[in-house]
Amino acid sequence: MEDVIVVGAGPAGNNAALSLASQGYSVAVIDSRENIGDKLCTGLVGQECFRRYPISPDLVHREISSARVISPSSEVLRFETPQTVARVVNRVGYVSSFADRAREAGAQYLLGQRVARVDQHSDHVSVVTDNGSLEARALVLATGFGSQLNRQLGLGGASDYVVGIQALVETSGLDEVEVYLGRKVAPGFFAWLVPTEPGYALAGLLVRKNAQERFAQFLSDRQADGSVTKLASKVTCWGIPLRPLRKTYADRVLVVGDAAGQVKPTTGGGIFYSLLASEIASGVLDQALRDDKLSANELGAYQKEWKSLLSIELEVGYSARRAFEFLGDSQISSLVHQAGKNGLVAELANSPDVSFDWHSSMISKIMGHPTMGGVLRLVNPLLARMARSPVPADLFSSDATQPDATQPDPTLAETMSPV
Ligand SMILES: Cc1cc2nc3c(=O)[nH]c(=O)nc-3n(C[C@H](O)[C@H](O)[C@H](O)COP(=O)(O)OP(=O)(O)OC[C@H]3O[C@@H](n4cnc5c(N)ncnc54)[C@H](O)[C@@H]3O)c2cc1C
Repeated sequence: MEDVIVVGAGPAGNNAALSLASQGYSVAVIDSRENIGDKLCTGLVGQECFRRYPISPDLVHREISSARVISPSSEVLRFETPQTVARVVNRVGYVSSFADRAREAGAQYLLGQRVARVDQHSDHVSVVTDNGSLEARALVLATGFGSQLNRQLGLGGASDYVVGIQALVETSGLDEVEVYLGRKVAPGFFAWLVPTEPGYALAGLLVRKNAQERFAQFLSDRQADGSVTKLASKVTCWGIPLRPLRKTYADRVLVVGDAAGQVKPTTGGGIFYSLLASEIASGVLDQALRDDKLSANELGAYQKEWKSLLSIELEVGYSARRAFEFLGDSQISSLVHQAGKNGLVAELANSPDVSFDWHSSMISKIMGHPTMGGVLRLVNPLLARMARSPVPADLFSSDATQPDATQPDPTLAETMSPV
């Protein structure tokens, strides 16, 4: 009998295992992948994530302090900050580095084994894998997007999600991150070119429907304008939750990371929040294991704690995301144009509110800006409400923010290839 079984060796699972094993608990981590961390991702992490969870310099492809935003009308808005705000890292190397340290602390890794079932008992949990079964006093579910194990435990699944699609490409003269906006490229979301090693970039986009077709068009447009010369890898897609689970704990079980929906709804970035939430989960489990009180009642402290840290970010981010999805191309172009003209971009670039890790204060600043507020009032009543009240607490409980007409196409699940 282990103290803790962690299912999933992504950032969330490895960090939970590292923290628990370092405190002397016996931990078994199970992942269906052989290659830890090899899951679809761009590997962009913000400055605070980098500071709290350091990355070996040889795993950093490049530091990011500027980006070009390309509007639907092809206007380019360049954004440059005086300091590094993010880094593009080798995702596999970074995620594996947590697992290496967890192993050194005593965690045992069982790779290439899929967990098919989780059973809760009064005094333990058991998991059934392809290779047999394992028992522990508690379980951390860090299975990422789309896991059936959440549902099996009665915790449901993501109520809203988007599909991310990406491939490595060869580039010519691309030296900055480029973000493409507009309905023709990625309706309601965005596409990107993120340079990695010299001559290469990750090209991708987020979209609710028709990911493959949209990506093929994006790539062909970039080939036509000369920035991309060649596709250098397989094209892969995977889901990203946009809303957290209502309940992220059960008897003897905590859910962390993408499985819990702890992701920035603005960009779909989830590495940092997975790491933060897994740290909170291990703190709560430590106390619960010591007291031998592992009921849902006791473990509810985890949800209280991660919500007090992340829920404003997730709620403001989701409201902003949904409002952005209402905008048409001419409205986006007008906003990009205004942002370049009225000094907002320069103001933001030098402001402490600009953070790759936390977006709510930047969103509030944009919404509260005098000129942008005026433009927003013209383009969209929902945005106008946010402009008047930068943290739209009243919107959170309203049905207006619930995914209804914008529910993702159910057939998308079939087009996703597990990576
Ligand atoms: C296209 C794309 C680009 C992205 N870019 C970024 C980015 O630049 N920056 C950023 O911060 N985030 C990014 N993300 C999101 C980021 O990848 C995730 O938020 C992050 O990996 C979540 O970590 P996790 O540990 O919760 O889950 P995951 O990293 O998904 O790990 C879950 C693990 O659980 C395993 N697993 C699942 N089910 C089972 C089972 N039944 N049995 C055994 N093992 C199982 C999986 O094999 C996997 O290894 C991106 C996502 C996509 C799709």
